[in-house]
Amino acid sequence: MASFKVKIGNLTIGGGEQIAVQSMLKTDPHNKASSLKQLRRLESVGCELVRMAIPDERAVETFRYLKGRANVPLIADIHFDPSLALKAMEAGADKIRINPGNIPKAGLKKILELAMEKNIPLRIGLNTGSLPKKFRHISPLWEGLILAAEDFLDWISPYNYRNLIFSLKASSIEDTIEAYLRFSKKYDFPLHLGLTEAGPIPEGIVKSTIALYTLLKEGIGDTIRVSLTAPPEVEVQASFCILESLGLRKRKLEIISCPTCGRTHSSLQSLIRTVRLLENEMKSHKVIAVMGCEVNGPGEAARADLGVSLTKNGAIIFKRGKIIKRVTLAEIKEALLEELNKD
Ligand code: SF4
Repeated sequence: MASFKVKIGNLTIGGGEQIAVQSMLKTDPHNKASSLKQLRRLESVGCELVRMAIPDERAVETFRYLKGRANVPLIADIHFDPSLALKAMEAGADKIRINPGNIPKAGLKKILELAMEKNIPLRIGLNTGSLPKKFRHISPLWEGLILAAEDFLDWISPYNYRNLIFSLKASSIEDTIEAYLRFSKKYDFPLHLGLTEAGPIPEGIVKSTIALYTLLKEGIGDTIRVSLTAPPEVEVQASFCILESLGLRKRKLEIISCPTCGRTHSSLQSLIRTVRLLENEMKSHKVIAVMGCEVNGPGEAARADLGVSLTKNGAIIFKRGKIIKRVTLAEIKEALLEELNKD
């Protein structure tokens, strides 16, 4: 069923809007400086919604501090203590994520009343690991997720508040897909897609890609988070890769690179980090090849608009497989930029 639109700060999701990429701060929520630094890094890689855990009142202060500086909507993630949700809303939260499995109904009512007054959307974040008690032992797991979502919908229906987004996350690919597929057949709420405890790299990326690709291909999902035991910027990059592979988003920079081998000169990973920085300065979509040697580099990456291959003493810059320049390692970024600016 097509979802309806929900506004989160200055961003609209649902109803056919572009699928938004989100991630979460992983810094100490009491450390304003490091949290702001990570927020800026997330913004620089294109993260469109940033969530922050609010475990206590001091974290609300960091949230308020970030809210005054953020260029993207900020979401407060609340567990157990409803008073923290109220304080986060007063601090300017653009959305509140709650888990009905760990907040009693009286607390939920207080959160809902203030959300209604301020017209702040709520994400009802259901996870198989923390479902309300009565749904915990239901098998299959996806059924427990749906029953818990419907239990919440029964509770909220007298309030007639539809400024809601749902997520139904399991750690397994099958349960996650099944829960979202079935829920979206019955309800038109916007959906936040993701797996819970997806894992580290590569497990988390592989599982998330299979689940999210399957759902997005069916037209299900309005915002995504690839949860990884990894820096949040990687979550954002993985999210965009999934959306790009489906043709749902197109970023300016597409990097292709070789796997490296015994012919690789110096660090290709560090060169890739340098090339990634070019995206903010690019005007249009380009494929840039980043290769480890000149023997096979230009030939293997002939489809690229522009490329760089490491050599024994530096690097070569090539265009559609043709070498155009030899540079030192320190000159690579400038040389690529110069070529990009010519187009
Ligand atoms: S491009 Fe060169 S360094 Fe990279 S995998 Fe091929 S042969 Fe190895």
